[in-house]
This record gives sequence, C-alpha cells and structure tokens, in this order.
Amino acid sequence: MIAPIQIKNTLKEYFGYDKFRPLQEDIINSIFNGHDNLVIMPTGGGKSICFQLPALLLEGITIVISPLIALMKDQVDGLTTNGIAAAYLNSSQNETEQQEIYTRIAAGELKLLYTAPESLTYLENIFSSETISLIAIDEAHCISSWGHDFRPAYTNLGYLKKRFPKIPVIALTATADKATREDIANQLNIPHATQHIASFDRKNLKLEVRPANDRVKQIISFIDERPNESGIIYCLSRKATEAVAEKLQGANINAAAYHAGIAHEKRSKIQEDFINDNCQVICATIAFGMGIDKSNVRWVIHYNLPKNIEGYYQEIGRAGRDGLPSNTLLFHSYGDVIQLQKFAQNSGNVEVQLAKLDRMKEYADALSCRRKILLSYFGELISEDCGNCDVCQNPPQFFDGTIIAQKALSTVARLDGQEPIGVVIDVLRGSQNSTIQEKGYQNLKTYGIAKDIAWLDWKQYVTQLVNLGYLEIAFHENNKLKLTEFAKDVLFNGKKVDLANLVEAEKHIEEQKVTATKAKKNSLFERLRLLRLKIAKEENVPAYQIFNDATLKEIEMDRPMSEDEFVRISGVGKVKLMNYGHQFIKEVIDFTGEKKSKRKGDTTKKTYELYQQGLSISEIAKERKLAETTIFSHISKLFAEGKDIDLTQFIDKHDLESIKTAKKELEDPNTLKAYFEHFEEAIPYSTIRIGLTILDKEDS
Ligand SMILES: [Zn+2]
Repeated sequence: MIAPIQIKNTLKEYFGYDKFRPLQEDIINSIFNGHDNLVIMPTGGGKSICFQLPALLLEGITIVISPLIALMKDQVDGLTTNGIAAAYLNSSQNETEQQEIYTRIAAGELKLLYTAPESLTYLENIFSSETISLIAIDEAHCISSWGHDFRPAYTNLGYLKKRFPKIPVIALTATADKATREDIANQLNIPHATQHIASFDRKNLKLEVRPANDRVKQIISFIDERPNESGIIYCLSRKATEAVAEKLQGANINAAAYHAGIAHEKRSKIQEDFINDNCQVICATIAFGMGIDKSNVRWVIHYNLPKNIEGYYQEIGRAGRDGLPSNTLLFHSYGDVIQLQKFAQNSGNVEVQLAKLDRMKEYADALSCRRKILLSYFGELISEDCGNCDVCQNPPQFFDGTIIAQKALSTVARLDGQEPIGVVIDVLRGSQNSTIQEKGYQNLKTYGIAKDIAWLDWKQYVTQLVNLGYLEIAFHENNKLKLTEFAKDVLFNGKKVDLANLVEAEKHIEEQKVTATKAKKNSLFERLRLLRLKIAKEENVPAYQIFNDATLKEIEMDRPMSEDEFVRISGVGKVKLMNYGHQFIKEVIDFTGEKKSKRKGDTTKKTYELYQQGLSISEIAKERKLAETTIFSHISKLFAEGKDIDLTQFIDKHDLESIKTAKKELEDPNTLKAYFEHFEEAIPYSTIRIGLTILDKEDS
C-alpha cells in the first residue's frame, strides 16, 4: 500500500506541485487499488500525471500507448527534464537506437515506455521478461469508430487486458460522448472500468466573438497588445493561412503559415520554432496543434467560423494549458456560413453536418453567456453566467427596433424573397449599383428608406432578425433572404421587436487596450522568460518544459531568493531545483537588487538596522508599519544570508524540537502548510519558518 504522504511528496518532488487538480487524486488512488480506469478530461486538465505519477511508485515499467510520434517525444522530453526515466520506442528509430532502449529496460532503468499502437510487436520480449506495472492508453477515443479520430491500429489494444488481466489499465481522452465511452471500455476489455469525467469548463479561457470586418487590422492590433505572447490563428483554407501570415509579417509580426501542403521538413521546422518560442504566431489550418503540448499558447483566433463546436472547442483548448488567463477570439461572417454550408452539402453526412453548423452559428450569434451555450453542448449545465465571455462582460443593450425590423422585412417582401442579404441592404440604403439599376429596384417603395444606417450595421441588424426567426437564409437557393411566418406579426399585427445595440469593432479594440495585460518590457516576468529561453536553447528543449508561464508568474509574485523558497513554487520539483534553481534565484536577486538600489535602501536591510539597534520584533513592526510576520520573514532571510542574528531567541526550544521531529516524520515536506497541519495549527507559520531556517542552517 502506498501512503498518501508518499504520493504527495512524489507530486512535489517530480512534478513540482503541492496539490492535485480535480480528479487526479481519485484516479491515482484507483490505480493503486488495482482498478481499471477510463478518464475523460479536457486538454490542459492534467491527464498525464494520472499515469505518470503511479508509474514512479509502482514496481516495474509502465507502458504508454500514444498515437503521435511528436507527442511521444514531447512527453518524454518533459519527463526527462523532471528527472524521470522515460523513453519511447517507435518506427522512427533505427535498430541501434531501439536496442539501446531494450538494454535500459533490461537494466531496470526505465519507469515509463511510450509506444504507438502500431509498434506493439516490438514489445513482445519485454512482455515476457519484465514486470509491467500499468498500461496507459492515451487518446483512447481513437479506438472507437463513434469518435472523431478513428485509428485502426487501436483496435488491437483489447489484447493487452487479455494478456495481462491483473495489470490495471487506464484509458484517457479529452473528448468522448456517452456512446464513445462505452465503446472504448468494451473494446479495451475493461467494461467495469471506473469512469472519471472532468468538467469541460476551461475558466481561464476568455471567449469572444466579433463581426468579421477588417479582420487583419483587428488581428494586428490584438497582437500588438500582446507582445511576445504565442498564439495560433486558424483559417479555413491553405491560401488564407498564407495570406494572413504574409500580412502579419508585413506588420513586423513574427508569423508563419502552416498547412498540409507545405513540405514535411519545413513544416516540422515551423512547428519546432513555435514550440521553442522562436516564432510568435502560426496561421494554420486545423491540422496544426494536434500533436503539440505547448502549454504557453496565450491566445487562439479563428479567422473563419469552424464547422462545428467540437472542433472549435478542441482548437481554443490549445490556449492556456498552464491555467493562466488566455484569450480566444472568433470572427463571425455570413460568408463563412455559406461556404461551410456548401462543404456540408458535399459531405457524406449532410444532415448531421448542417445541424452541427447550426449549433456553431447559434454560439457565434449568442446574446447570452457563451460559456453556458458551449458547455450545454457537451451536456454540462451551469447555473451562473461565466463573467469571462464578451457577452457577460458587455451585455447587449436592447432598444425598440420595430421600425428597423419593419423596413427590412417589407423590403424582403417587395423583393419577393428573391435576393440575398447584400442586395436587400443595397435597396434599403438606396444604392445605385448596376444590379439595382438593371433590375429596376430603384422603383420599389422601400428603396432608400434607411440610408441613415451604415451598410455593416444593417448586416448585423439583419443577422439579428434571422436569429430572432423573422427571416431565414435559403442556403440551397443562393442564400436568398426570405420571410418566415413570424414576419407577418411584425409587418401586419404591430408586434414589437427588440434589437441589440451594436458594438463596433473599433470599440472592441479600444476596450481591449484597457484590459489587456501588457507585458512590460522591463518586468521580472520578461527577464525570467528570456532566461528560460536561453536555457531552452542551450538544452534544445521547448521553453515551457523548463518552467511553464504559471510558474514564472509565481516566481515573479513570490520573488524566491533562496533554494528553500524556490522549491515552494508550484512547478518546481527536485530535479528542476537542482538544474535551474540557481540561475532563476540569481535573476530574482539581481532584479530585486536593481529595483531596490533605485529606491532608498532595502527593506530587509532597514529591518536589520533596527534589529542591530536592539529593537524587538514588535517594536520593529510598529516602527516600520509592517506586520510582525513580515519582520519575521526578513529576520529569517537575513539569518539565511549569514547575518549575525541569534534566531533561537525567537523560538521556544520545545517548538524547535517538535519541528525537527516533524521534519523527519513528514520526510522533509516542501510546504510550511504540511507542518502547520501536522501540528494541528498549534504552532504559527512564522515560528515554523524560523525553526526550519535554523534546521536548514544546521544541515548545511
Ligand atoms: Zn459568459
């Protein structure tokens, strides 16, 4: 049996975290109890730890089945930087490389081995001679033809449970509806697997939709507000990815296009540059992002409307995997809807595709909380509005739009439902173009009755009327705008129509400027980021694998200046402390030193001066108008720096003994909280900190 404290210590030591994210602990315990598990967790929810951590504590080797070679390499690199012995075995390696891995396995060196479902045969000799501790099947939806990424080789995996009935199997995926879940469990021969279904809500992603006017201009100003932040722009066509990338390059933005038509080698290079923070923006078709695990993608833009909500959700999910606030922006245009309608008409499953597109359109047109709509699509209901979507933050104001509605509807009636939206607006605005002239529309009674409303505003009002159900677009008939039966109520029975005030794109940009968190050029975060980039280049690994953005933010906030403080940062494990701690601590100290020398004196120095004058802690606190705990932390810091301070005067001998014993019993935990809880809150934090500082000094 594995003790909870051992699990917690492993989490901190190897992964650098003090606590688990939702469901992780349950899943891990279930594995330790020998059960099979099926895990549905959205991208960024922390799936991998669910099998990586047990792999470390269980006897033998964990086999991980993963579909993509790029993903395997990425995960193995990540594990290695955390000091975990892992490798992958697949067809991209030559015989010597493979032999080397077999040797490491035979020597009992490896805890995790990644492989593709196609490469199972390579493992036969391992299966017969080594102890398998756990079998993890990642992207498990690939086994089901109900899922959206069916992969034939996955269907061989049911064999594993038959061969090793006593070894726990864990199957993981980010997307699977009920039918797919059952199918996965049955095909893998784990029908009684415990199912763990995490919430689909990614609270850190801001959801925003804007009308697709002047997209490139909007994108450039969006990126200008976020210097150095990585992002992906999804486009519908290869041509669009290139056109957008080119325009961004023209605006001095470090952008590249990525699509399946680009030569393999060049594509890998682009992907690698993006992962390593050498390329800021990727303009891609949906193919991009499948196999990458970059945690600091700060934003995702949809240049075009996606064809369904599943795809949209998966794509925006590539932002903010580190849990930090991230932006998503979708441009909505009817041109895209029409294009996608055509694609759907030519697909094998017309009705389903059209229905899915409809839901996507409803989401984009929404006048109420978008997250509610998104989550309800996945069967998850939330009662409160999210507060982190554009609708919540800028709720539409409604006005009496009856006259506008009547003008539009009667124009459609006079055109006999034979013209698309553009012509209807041209008639309303009294345009003199050739279509109008040729067809004699200038003689209609409603010609030019609404010149005062701008063309683009009309487009949005008509869209609202479509969404309200008074008009419909006949997609099969060249997108002619037609009246619905509800239109009569407005035209003839005096029904009132409420329309939402329009929010202009320009205003959006202005607001963005105010709210965007500007990366300050001289901030500590920026310095830490550059240090990370430098180390990443030296070690030839992606920057986020050194530390993710969330960890850098925490370093910026907490300013750790000793190893003791540094290891308390979330994301800092034992190996990373050893490998990088020194450099990051130095950066913090240098930065803080520079800042402070600019101000008058150093805060701990001031405390030290008062201490030397013989003031007590409470007197110093009063004098400096700071909390006593702050003064205690200064004193501890000064002591650790080697200043002549007798710390023992601040701590009862008994307490010091208790802390010493607890340190042993708790196996030297990394958090003060562990001690605080151990003493059932009887010894205050400041005392624990002082005790540990003394003990650390004794040890060193
Ligand atoms: Zn909302």
